[in-house]
Amino acid sequence: MNKHRGAVKPNDCPYCNGKGYFQLLLGGSETCESCEGSGSKSE
Ligand SMILES: [Zn+2]
Repeated sequence: MNKHRGAVKPNDCPYCNGKGYFQLLLGGSETCESCEGSGSKSE
C-alpha cells in the first residue's frame, strides 16, 4: 500500500497528530480528549 512519509498516519488522531496530547503555548501539555491520550483515531 501507499506509504506516507512524514505525514499523519491514517489511524492517528487528527487533533493531536497521533501524540495523544496537546503542547500548550504557556508550557506543559494537555491530554487530547478526542483520543483520550492514545493518539489513535477511534472510529
Ligand atoms: Zn488525540
